[in-house]
Amino acid sequence: MAVPTNLSTLFKDLALLYARTDIQYSQLKAVTLAQWILESGWGESDLAKNHYNFGGLKWRKEMTGFATRILYQANDGADYYCQFASLERFIRGYWRFIDRSPYTGWEERTDSGEAFIRFIGPVYSPSPGYVDRVLALVDEAQMLLDTVTEPVMAPLESPSLRGTVVLDPGHGGTRKVGGSSPNNAISASGIKEKTMTLEMALLVRDALQQTAAQNGYDIRVILTRTADVNVGIAERANTASMERANLFLAIHFNGFNKQTSGVETYIRARANGNVNFEQDEAFAWRIQGAVLGALRTYAPATRDRGVKEDSASGGGVLGVLEDRALGNVPRDHPCRACLVEIEFIDVPRVDRLLNTGPDARQVRRTLAGAIAAAMVEDLLADR
Ligand SMILES: [Zn+2]
Repeated sequence: MAVPTNLSTLFKDLALLYARTDIQYSQLKAVTLAQWILESGWGESDLAKNHYNFGGLKWRKEMTGFATRILYQANDGADYYCQFASLERFIRGYWRFIDRSPYTGWEERTDSGEAFIRFIGPVYSPSPGYVDRVLALVDEAQMLLDTVTEPVMAPLESPSLRGTVVLDPGHGGTRKVGGSSPNNAISASGIKEKTMTLEMALLVRDALQQTAAQNGYDIRVILTRTADVNVGIAERANTASMERANLFLAIHFNGFNKQTSGVETYIRARANGNVNFEQDEAFAWRIQGAVLGALRTYAPATRDRGVKEDSASGGGVLGVLEDRALGNVPRDHPCRACLVEIEFIDVPRVDRLLNTGPDARQVRRTLAGAIAAAMVEDLLADR
C-alpha cells in the first residue's frame, strides 16, 4: 500500500492543512487522517468532494455552528449528513463530533493512535474489521502528512496572503426562496443555469485552493450553497458579512432570445448606495477580463458586454450586492462584490462551447482557473 500517485488536490489540501493545524493530541493526527482516507476513499466520495465531509459524519444537533445539515443519498440509504463550509471547518468539526457522549472516555486513550481508534472505532462504525482497516492505513497517512509539508519550504520569498472569498452559485432547488428564483436560464440542450453555476463555483473553489496550496497563501473559500438547494438573496450576501469576506462573487449564466450573447458583470450602482464603488468596479473588471480571456481562447468572437451598474430605478437592483448585507458600511467595507453573467447559454453555439462540445469540460476548467486567478490578483492588490 502507498499514497496514490493520482491523489486529488482536495485531499492533499486537507492533509496539508491538517499537518499545519495545531490540535491538542498531535500524536492522533495520523490515525484520524487514516480514518478520513478510509471514510472518503482518499477524498473521492461525493460527501468529501461536494460537502467537505471526509469522515462520513452524520448530522447531530451538537454540530450546529460547525456544519450545516444536508440530506444525502449514501450507499446505505438517504440520511442527514454534515456539510462543512471549508476544510478548516471539517477538521474542527471532526473533533467536535467525537466530543459527544457516545465517545466519552477517549481522552484517556490518547497515548497512541492504536489505543484511540480501538476505543472510538466500534462506536464510529459498526462494520466488522473497521478498526483494522483504519490501522492498515496509518503508515500511508503519516507518509502523506510528512510529504505534503515539504513543498511549503520552497517558496520562501512568495508573498504571504490571507483572505476569505465567498462564491455564490446562482439559483438552486425547485422553489423561490427569499427573492431567489430556483432557475432562470436553460441551455439550448436543456441544461439548467442552476446546475452550471454550482459546478462552476466548485471548480473555482478547487482552483483557488490549488493556487493557495502552491503559493503558501491562506485563502478560505466559502460557498453559499454546495448542493441543489435554493438560498434567499439576503442570506447569500449575509454569508459574506458573517465570514468577514474580502470578496463576494455571484456566478450566473444568462439567457434571452437565443441570439444575444456575450459576457457581462454587474456591480451595485453608486445611485443604489454602493459604499465601495471603485473597489467593486476594479474587482468586476478583473473578473470580466478573466472570463472574456478564457472564453476567447476557444471562441475568439466572444462579445465583451462590459461591467454594468445595477439599475437604480424600479427593477434590476441586485439584492445580492447590497452593501450592508455583505458587511459593508461607509467607514468599514471589507468586501468587494460583483455578479458575473458568464454567457448566454440559450445560444446553441455557446451551449456547445460550454456544455456539449468536445472541449466543453476543458473550457469550463479554463474559465474556473481564470476566475480564481483574477480573485487572487484582487486579493493581492488590496493587501
Ligand atoms: Zn441567474
